[in-house]
Amino acid sequence: MRYSRVAEAFEDLEATQKNLEKTDILAELFRDADDELANLVLLSTGTPFPAWKNMDLGVSSKTLVKIISKATGRSEDEITETWKNEGDLGLAAEAMVEKKTQQRLMTQEITVEKVVDRLQKVADTQASGLSQSVDQDKKQRELADLISSAEPKEARYLARIIINNLRLGIGEGTIRDALAEAFFDGEHSEEIQKAYDFTNDFAEVAEACREGIEKVRSLELELERPIKSMLAKKVETIEEGFEEVGKPAAIDYKYDGMRAQIHVKDGGVTVFTRRLEDVTEQFPDVVEAVEENIESENCIIDTEIVGYDPEDGSMIPFQKLSKRIKRKYEIQKLKAQIPVTVRPFDLIYLDEPILERPYSERWRELQEIVSEEEKVMKLVDHAETSEEEKVGEMQQASLSAGHEGIMMKSLEAEYKPGNRVGYMVKLKPVMETLDLAIIGAKWSEGRRSDWLGRLYLGCYDEENDEYLEVGKMATGLTDEQFQEITEKLKPLITKEDGRKVEVRPEVIVEAEYEEIQESPNYSSGYALRFPRMKQFREDKEQADSLQKVKNLYEDQS
Ligand code: AMP
Repeated sequence: MRYSRVAEAFEDLEATQKNLEKTDILAELFRDADDELANLVLLSTGTPFPAWKNMDLGVSSKTLVKIISKATGRSEDEITETWKNEGDLGLAAEAMVEKKTQQRLMTQEITVEKVVDRLQKVADTQASGLSQSVDQDKKQRELADLISSAEPKEARYLARIIINNLRLGIGEGTIRDALAEAFFDGEHSEEIQKAYDFTNDFAEVAEACREGIEKVRSLELELERPIKSMLAKKVETIEEGFEEVGKPAAIDYKYDGMRAQIHVKDGGVTVFTRRLEDVTEQFPDVVEAVEENIESENCIIDTEIVGYDPEDGSMIPFQKLSKRIKRKYEIQKLKAQIPVTVRPFDLIYLDEPILERPYSERWRELQEIVSEEEKVMKLVDHAETSEEEKVGEMQQASLSAGHEGIMMKSLEAEYKPGNRVGYMVKLKPVMETLDLAIIGAKWSEGRRSDWLGRLYLGCYDEENDEYLEVGKMATGLTDEQFQEITEKLKPLITKEDGRKVEVRPEVIVEAEYEEIQESPNYSSGYALRFPRMKQFREDKEQADSLQKVKNLYEDQS
């Protein structure tokens, strides 16, 4: 299939906000795809890789500017300028290709296959052992070559796919429904969803759809192909918890560790994070713990990996443990500095998928295969009860022991990958706050015009030694606090521009918030929703790091 056909469909998708129309457009595209269906479906997800592979091309927006420049002969400044004006790098790429001065001698049609092959090949280049710069250069040339052979509209979507930001407003649900419509007259959506939940691979699901519903039904969970973790809803009270999960319920301690889905296949161990990243190499101790203490050659266990202090054995927060996730060198050293205990809480595969069996059974099976060893492998603290009082006691005990609270789980429920269905809820009274620097402010208007009102909050980017904005705070402050803040900030002002001022980042405040979102509008790339002032942190000189914001963001969903 010609890639231009895809670009046209993408443009139609972009033009409508209506979900049904989006589904129709996609379904038509899928119907026309023939042999290219798998590739096409992948492109519609915005990346040429299936979700379970957890891959991306590793091209930043800045690098894409360079690539577009190489492809079109336009200067990086011009591209950046157009990007700013259009608000989108895809549109900038389109405009540049349109302006491209050097006429193409031969226009060669790009096919969907070519696009996907090229993008996948570039990813392989990255994975190969070439030196960093050769690698980067080759990657950029390959991508530039692709863009340079594209028509303007094709370039728009190529650029967006390269930075994994397709912006068509289509999610998993739309793709699922479009497959149902294309192949089953709109039926079997649920089964398609299930097949996707098990495989995490729309290319494979789409191929199965083409073969028929029986094939879709036959898709199963496979070892070494991670599935999305079941997520927890949040509840405020124990009563609300019981309403969600029913009585009696399982009550677990909630630990502040790292979620890990551990696959054992013919005795070999693979460790995946909740983002489906393979971190086996970073956690040789986890591999060993599983080899020694899990009595099954073929299983998938859902666990929380909890770090502890080697000196006194006390638990350490995820924040510290997270160091081990990214680290690719000196692993043995780090392992000694931050040892971990594996705490299994669910079993979803035991010689065959068992995720549709009730949790109470899965838990019993899990108990059978785990042999506990102090500090190495220990089932989560777990009880089963209908009594609110008992739950309250557990919550207290968990918090006093320095954990995060408790989870309440339905004993009857199946394991639902990726979903925040109410089969498992978290009762976590304490929200983690952030200590942030005030990096700017705005003079108020009216009655408070002598005061600095709106406050711009920043976290600290350790890598570049600078402060980056993560939110604006205008509420949660009393008049006295506004006054106090104004007094504190006035001597720190470095620049004024209208009502806006910039200040040296010396006042640190502890902020509460509803949640952290990704946001292109803030220099940190993240935005706190409804940040509120909790207190000044006079005792602190530096704000929390960008890494902490990132970790909290990743940990919250
Ligand atoms: P949250 O990250 O606040 O949404 O809470 C859900 C997370 O708690 C899960 O993704 C796990 O990483 C973690 N967790 C800690 N202890 C448990 C437990 N006993 N059962 C399930 N999840 C747990």
